[in-house]
Amino acid sequence: DRPTSVSVPACFDYALRLFQSRLRDAGVRIERDWPDDEVWVRADLVRLEQVLVNLIGNALQAMNQTPDPLLRLGIEPAGETVRIRVTDNGPGIAEQHLGRIFEPFFTTKSPGSGLGLGLSISARIIDDLGGQLAADHGPGGGARFTITLPLSPGPD
Ligand code: ADP
Ligand code: MG
Repeated sequence: DRPTSVSVPACFDYALRLFQSRLRDAGVRIERDWPDDEVWVRADLVRLEQVLVNLIGNALQAMNQTPDPLLRLGIEPAGETVRIRVTDNGPGIAEQHLGRIFEPFFTTKSPGSGLGLGLSISARIIDDLGGQLAADHGPGGGARFTITLPLSPGPD
């Protein structure tokens, strides 16, 4: 699992296919915000997919009481790096939890519905790829997760 050139839109497509029926059943609207051109990063395909699956799974759980659930997926090339964003319009992350959500076993979910490992593993994966995973509040008050990774000039 050495880093190769990985297509970010293809990773999102994979994760969305995995959640397709759940997203549909939950009535989640999906907004894709990325350029028509391919965006490549130096990453491990399976691991980056795993991170996106963790983030989208969390977003879906967070929006389960949200009247008009909206999942926004973004890819923003910025110089030598790219920002990959997963934003939801759920309740967001409480201020006092923001500093702890990346700790192993930190969860606010009831026993059985969350082990609290998804974000710590995801942060570790992104860190190993020379990037960062960060959380903040989205424009609508929901949670926003931003992965920053080095851009790759094109396919291998
Ligand atoms: P788990 O999902 O098993 O609880 P994670 O590591 O994936 O573990 O997430 C840790 C905690 O971060 C969650 O329990 C929740 O409190 C918070 N969190 C993660 N994603 C979101 C989100 N999209 N909206 C609100 N809170 C979130
Ligand atoms: Mg989780």
